[in-house]
Amino acid sequence: MDHVDTVIIGAGVVGLGLAARLSQTRQVLVIDQMGQFGEHTSSRNSEVIHAGLYYDEHSLKARLCVRGKALLYDHCERFHVPAKRLGKILFARTAAEQDKLANIETQAKRNGVHDLTPLSRAQIADMAPGLRVSAALFSPSTGIVDSHQLMLSLVHQLEHAGGNLVCHTRFDSAEPTASGFNVILDCDGEGFKLSCHTLINAGGLFAQDNARRIIGLGKHHIPQSHLCRGQYFCYQGSHPFHHLIYPMPEQHGLGIHATLDMAGQLRFGPDTEFVDQLDYQVDAQAKARFVEAIQSYWPALDPARLQPDYAGIRPKLYLDQGQDFVIDGHQHHGVNGLINLFGIESPGLTASLAIAEYVESQLKR
Ligand SMILES: Cc1cc2nc3c(=O)[nH]c(=O)nc-3n(C[C@H](O)[C@H](O)[C@H](O)COP(=O)(O)OP(=O)(O)OC[C@H]3O[C@@H](n4cnc5c(N)ncnc54)[C@H](O)[C@@H]3O)c2cc1C
Repeated sequence: MDHVDTVIIGAGVVGLGLAARLSQTRQVLVIDQMGQFGEHTSSRNSEVIHAGLYYDEHSLKARLCVRGKALLYDHCERFHVPAKRLGKILFARTAAEQDKLANIETQAKRNGVHDLTPLSRAQIADMAPGLRVSAALFSPSTGIVDSHQLMLSLVHQLEHAGGNLVCHTRFDSAEPTASGFNVILDCDGEGFKLSCHTLINAGGLFAQDNARRIIGLGKHHIPQSHLCRGQYFCYQGSHPFHHLIYPMPEQHGLGIHATLDMAGQLRFGPDTEFVDQLDYQVDAQAKARFVEAIQSYWPALDPARLQPDYAGIRPKLYLDQGQDFVIDGHQHHGVNGLINLFGIESPGLTASLAIAEYVESQLKR
């Protein structure tokens, strides 16, 4: 039977971030069931490098977002991955929202983000013409990244270190042994068995399903999975924005906000809707809701230029409350050599390199 030190299930940005880092000191194999890396959530998001403003200071999200942002900007510079520090305008429209804005400023400081600045009405009018809001903060360290180029750079780092990415290969099951695991893979319909010391489940939306097929892992260590779709509409033609524009966050998302891609294309979203199955179709009927939400802060929106774009799905752990990333090693579930990553929704792209650093430190314990 073939042996490899570490098998990583999932070649999204998280699995690839882990692979790039761990391959510097050990032999790594990353597998993905799809024909290419990053075909699920990692290529269906806003590509925003988040500053780390919202999350509770004790959460993994706060810690790994702030650390991940720094690691990501460094990585992009070093490996020539396109990224831009566009900055983000976070706005309030009502007195109640102004209180929320003040709370976010306090929370950001607790998270170690000290660069938020209040914008005057004149500054808002100058930086985002036509935006109808009553108060705003500017976050200069929020930016955007080309997520495909980022993942490609991680694949190069992995391969340069002697590691491998194999696509069209599905993790089937794993059984613990005295020194790790026997793993069964399905390579384009053919079964394949190998052994490894360390198994990392970075399967994103499929992480729970994978975990259920690891013999010896107690069911109570596998959290519920809920799919929460986020749809985008793009805005065709010219527009007045050079920064990312965000309303106050909502329970399950950040509100229908405006982001720009590397080419300056404006798009709005994502919304939030719990769905029963993996369905990346954009519902054209959602346009009316988008128009209403956007015109509440940008009345000049021309609805005719708003077109359905794409959708991504958040791997939520709860229907009715906020959540943190769950990254469990043997200290938690008792299975030596196994790390499970659950609920890696936003800001997972921003946090990806910090998640890798965190998992590496867990493996050393
Ligand atoms: C709408 C939306 C907007 C977002 N916006 C942002 C943002 O602006 N900024 C930010 O920081 N984060 C954002 N995120 C979050 C970010 O996209 C994710 O946290 C991140 O992409 C998760 O990466 P991943 O590698 O964990 O998952 P994925 O990219 O889903 O990768 C998991 C991979 O595992 C593979 N896999 C699973 N099971 C198996 C198996 N059994 N065998 C083989 N392969 C398997 C899958 O095929 C998949 O390729 C957003 C998410 C969504 C949904």
